[in-house]
Amino acid sequence: MNTSIYLDNSATTQVRPEVVEAMVPYLGKIWGNPSSIHQFGRQAAEALSSARQQVAQLLNCLPEEIYFSPCGTYSNNTAIVGRARYVEANRLGRHMITSAIEHPAVLGPARHLEAQGWDVTYLPVSSQGIVNPEDLRRSISSNTSIISIMWANNEIGTVQPVAQLAQVANAAGVYFHTDAVQCVGKLPLDMTAVPASSLSLSGHKFHAPKGIGVLYVRQGVNLMPLVWGGGQEQGLFPGTEALPNIVGIGLAAQLATQELDGNMSSLRQMQQVFLDELLSVPGVRLTGAQDIEHRLPGHVSLSIEGGDGEALVLKADLKGICISAGSACHKGVKSPSHIISAIGLPARDALGTVRISAGRFNTTVECQRAARSLASILSNLNSNTPKACPSLS
Ligand code: PLP
Repeated sequence: MNTSIYLDNSATTQVRPEVVEAMVPYLGKIWGNPSSIHQFGRQAAEALSSARQQVAQLLNCLPEEIYFSPCGTYSNNTAIVGRARYVEANRLGRHMITSAIEHPAVLGPARHLEAQGWDVTYLPVSSQGIVNPEDLRRSISSNTSIISIMWANNEIGTVQPVAQLAQVANAAGVYFHTDAVQCVGKLPLDMTAVPASSLSLSGHKFHAPKGIGVLYVRQGVNLMPLVWGGGQEQGLFPGTEALPNIVGIGLAAQLATQELDGNMSSLRQMQQVFLDELLSVPGVRLTGAQDIEHRLPGHVSLSIEGGDGEALVLKADLKGICISAGSACHKGVKSPSHIISAIGLPARDALGTVRISAGRFNTTVECQRAARSLASILSNLNSNTPKACPSLS
């Protein structure tokens, strides 16, 4: 039996057994193409339509506003570059605003637009990783056509004031996209309360399989496709639908909707276990939002003075605890992530950042065990590690 404790649910999650079970028939006896008009096709089309409704319920929106995509990365790219194509076709302003702490699936398309001659503003964040809606308001000009600010950050767990940010964009009449890939099952996602133009999700972050995403596009908002084909998903994501994965994400969305309250409170409990145990270790600090209300439930990100994030991850792994690091080694040089740099952590802390992300398959008891084990690793590290890295101090 594997007794390891998986605490890296922000990276990916285990597919729920109910989800696997629901998908199996679509890998076997129900194999029709939803576009066919005969009975095989109709059966497949029905499954497609009920999955769309399940996701629409999660977001409290219309089923027609839900587009299935290959993953969160494709959803973000289509939301940004697909909107940029529309902007260009209509000769609107070529200015985009985003934040300095977005996932590469947003920063990548932003840089692509910059290379095409767009002007891109990367809004700074506070030391807790929060975008100030006033900064956004001040950055909007008559040329601004796209704003993309994530709902919650994958690495430091900060939840943005997304309703306020979307309202600022709305008041200026500017398209507003939000990457909500980290939020399902952790926060209410109600599109009647948040006036975003579009939003991205990714199945593998909420117990559906990898290789399936969602792009919500508010009715009346125009995007142009990035690829062309048979017209599936209203022409925005053409190609024969990945029906087993779509059935999986549909059920995972339905379960996340039904279980939201219970899931949020058990994630908050597990989060508290780590905070209580680890923040009492000398030299260990919480990164991102300090106030629990502005953090994703279940998410703890820490900086360890003079530590090495990747080395810590490997030490924890040897003890059967799976977490992740915020710094990485590229070509022999360790550097903090762009997120850690953007919140301005002092150099002595920036390389020693780790993330612990609990999920629905974790229990409070195993979190207590993991927290004690991590605390002992961190305390030993503190006594053994020189306090400053000469090249960084
Ligand atoms: N956006 C955020 C905030 C993420 O955390 C991730 C995945 O780590 C993505 C986008 C990309 O999603 P996918 O892996 O489905 O392409």
